[in-house]
Amino acid sequence: MRPPSVDRLARSIAHLGLPHALSVSQARLAIAEGPPYDVERLAKELMGRLPTRVINATGTILHTNLARAPIGTSDINSPTFRASNVEFDLTSGIRGNRNRPLSELLQPLIDAELSAVVNNGASALLLVLATLAGSGSVIVSRGEMVEIGGGFRIPEVVGSSGCRLIEVGTTNRTRLADYKQALAANPGALILKVHPSNYRIEGFTEQVPVNQLAGLGVPVIYDIGSGLLDSKMPWLKAPLSALSQEPAVKQSLRDGATVVTFSGDKLLGGPQAGLIAGDAKVVGACLMHPLYRALRPGSHILELLADTLLRYLDGTATTTIPLWQMLSVDIAHLKRRAESVGLGRVVDSQALIGAGSAPGAVLNSIGVVIEGDRRSELRSQQTPIIARALGDDTLLDLRSYSPHDDHLVRRALLEMGCDKEATR
Ligand SMILES: *Cc1c(COP(=O)(O)O)cnc(C)c1O
Repeated sequence: MRPPSVDRLARSIAHLGLPHALSVSQARLAIAEGPPYDVERLAKELMGRLPTRVINATGTILHTNLARAPIGTSDINSPTFRASNVEFDLTSGIRGNRNRPLSELLQPLIDAELSAVVNNGASALLLVLATLAGSGSVIVSRGEMVEIGGGFRIPEVVGSSGCRLIEVGTTNRTRLADYKQALAANPGALILKVHPSNYRIEGFTEQVPVNQLAGLGVPVIYDIGSGLLDSKMPWLKAPLSALSQEPAVKQSLRDGATVVTFSGDKLLGGPQAGLIAGDAKVVGACLMHPLYRALRPGSHILELLADTLLRYLDGTATTTIPLWQMLSVDIAHLKRRAESVGLGRVVDSQALIGAGSAPGAVLNSIGVVIEGDRRSELRSQQTPIIARALGDDTLLDLRSYSPHDDHLVRRALLEMGCDKEATR
């Protein structure tokens, strides 16, 4: 039998609303795949891969598969396409510096002499290593040979920056003497300390704190990744105990780290970005390094990041940054929301901060449970809803999505017939 024509196959999926060129490309794929030429399945699979808005009902607040921090502050409705003064100084009318205002906003929050913004935490570390170490050596504790996921492995990042890695200590214990010995054998080496942000070593353990490393007389780079801006969390009414063990940028700099690198999305709750903060000479050299040009973010990110930092500065972070709203909302409020959804069974649940932050730390939460594994149906809703399994049933955690989406969740559950479910 001859295969169907590309055109006929493409027209057969017109109801899906894909741009015609994509319907055609999927039709070609279907023909290449052979009978039964299921172009509809291919098109739907493609649509399922396109980035789109979803409701994160997993209970993992910073979900790595769902872009971690939900972005948006007061500026969330801004049009995507517009001019931005990313490198234009409105006062003088001449070319400006895209990094400078971000550094100025960070300064009062973390007391850093200078900060630089790049695309993500991985680029931040890569740029610092390439700038500071060049082809020199970097000392790292064997207890801090972290893999973050997605291929970010400390030994490989160090290797790709051109430096030589010197491992010291053991998996569970590294002492100051280990660093001293390595420095004696490798004069001119620097020290990299890495926050093991997604695992915990318990028992007979020892790692050397930054303030002791800082006394060794060589630059200390501290990659905290998912740490806090300030351990006192002054933007909250009271520090959140689930985060009390997280390292903080401000305190690490005060303890003597030369530069600290961290993510702009993880615990900052801003857009995906990487930050380098600390010694003005070192950060300034990073900004002059040819790699900076390749790693710097665009205007949308810089605007969103500036907006996020302003919320920390004006004291409205808790009420305007979704991450902090989700972390600090109380149980009674979540319960009222669950009851307003009005379908399924309201249960106590445990939410996670996620994204490798505070491993093992959970927050009490509230969930709505519906019978059976309905996750795939939830994902195929007009606004896809990502839920998690609870035994044989499905749980939607209310802490990890916006209260504004409760009505969409209710509508989805109604469409799925959850009102007819026997209430147990
Ligand atoms: C997350 C993390 C990184 C990488 O940050 P990205 O923004 O994901 O690139 C690096 N180091 C540590 C310790 C981290 O936790």
